[in-house]
Amino acid sequence: MKPPRFDYVAPVDLDEALEVLADDSLETRPLAGGQSLVPMLNFRLAAPERLVDLNRIEELARVQRTADGGLRLGAMTRHSTLERDPLVAEGAALLAEAARFIAHPQIRSRGTVGGSVAHADPAAELPAVLLTLGARVHIARCAREGETGPRAERTLDLRELFLGPFFTALEPGEILTALEVPPPVAGEGSAFDEVARRRGDYAIVGVAARVRLDSDGLCREAAISLVNGGSTPCLMEEAAGALVGAEPTPDAIASAAAVCAKTSEPATDMHASKAYRRHLIRVLTGRVVSRAVGHAREGCHRR
Ligand SMILES: Cc1cc2nc3c(=O)[nH]c(=O)nc-3n(C[C@H](O)[C@H](O)[C@H](O)COP(=O)(O)OP(=O)(O)OC[C@H]3O[C@@H](n4cnc5c(N)ncnc54)[C@H](O)[C@@H]3O)c2cc1C
Repeated sequence: MKPPRFDYVAPVDLDEALEVLADDSLETRPLAGGQSLVPMLNFRLAAPERLVDLNRIEELARVQRTADGGLRLGAMTRHSTLERDPLVAEGAALLAEAARFIAHPQIRSRGTVGGSVAHADPAAELPAVLLTLGARVHIARCAREGETGPRAERTLDLRELFLGPFFTALEPGEILTALEVPPPVAGEGSAFDEVARRRGDYAIVGVAARVRLDSDGLCREAAISLVNGGSTPCLMEEAAGALVGAEPTPDAIASAAAVCAKTSEPATDMHASKAYRRHLIRVLTGRVVSRAVGHAREGCHRR
C-alpha cells in the first residue's frame, strides 16, 4: 500500500516545527522515526494532511546529564542510542537493557524514544520502562497571543500522559520534546525481561522492575510496570506496594508476583489468552524482581 498524499515540512528548528503544528488549516502530525507512523499511513490507518519531520532538529536529539545528576533524553533519541550511550548506561541502564528487545537493529536505528512514548502502544517496551524509572515528560507548543516567548512548555509525570491505548494527554499542536529520568539513588537495582514468540517480535508480555533497599536489606521503594499487561503502559502499584517495608525474600517476591498477575488486565488476542498472559506476568515478575533485588544487594546501584 502507498500512503495517502500529504504535505511535508522538515524544519531545522523546534520553534519552526511548533509554528507549523499550530497552523490548524491542515491536519498535521509530527514524524519522528516513522517506524509506527509510516506503516499506519501505508495501511491507511492515519491520513494526516501534513507531516512535520523532526529529524533535522538537533536540540531534540540530545542526551544530557541534568544538573541534579538525572538523565535528559531528547525526544529524537534513537532506540539504538539507548543501547550504546555511556550516559544512558550510567543513569538508566534499564533503558539500555530493554531497548535491545525492541524489534530489529534497522528499526532501532530509526525509532525514537519520543515517538515510542507519544505512540502509547501498550505493547511497547520504553513507555513501561520509563514509568518504572519515574520519568517526567517535557512538552512544548507554539506560544499563543499574550504569552511571552516563542513557545509554551509544560512538564508531566509520565503516569499522567497515558490515557488509553494509543491515546495520550498530548494536545493538538504539542510536541513531546524530552523525557527526564531522576538521578540514581544508592541501594537501587533494576531489571527487565519479556516473552515474545520470536526474537524481535512485539512482546506477548514484558516486565520492568526497580527496587531500592536500605542498609538493613529492607525494601524502601519498588516500581513494577508491564508491557502488554493492560490497555495502557501501566505501573502495578499494588504489587510494588507488597514489597515495600519488608525483606524481599523469595516468598515475598512470589507474593508480589501473584498480586501483579491478579491485578493485571491483559487482553486476549491471536497471540495469547488473558489467562496465559497472566501466567507469564506472574513468572516474569518473580524473575525480574529477583534480579533487581540481586543488583541492589550487589551494591552496584544499577538502575
Ligand atoms: C516491524 C516492526 C517491529 C516493531 N517492534 C517493536 C517492538 O518490539 N517494541 C516496540 O516498542 N516498538 C516496536 N516497533 C515500533 C518502533 O519502536 C517505533 O519506533 C516506535 O513505536 C515509534 O517511534 P518512531 O520514532 O518511529 O515514531 P513515529 O512512527 O514517527 O511516530 C509515532 C507516533 O508518534 C507521534 N510522534 C512522534 N514523535 C513525536 C513527538 N516528539 N511529539 C509528539 N508526537 C510525536 C507521531 O505523530 C505518530 O503519531 C516496531 C516497528 C516495526 C516497523
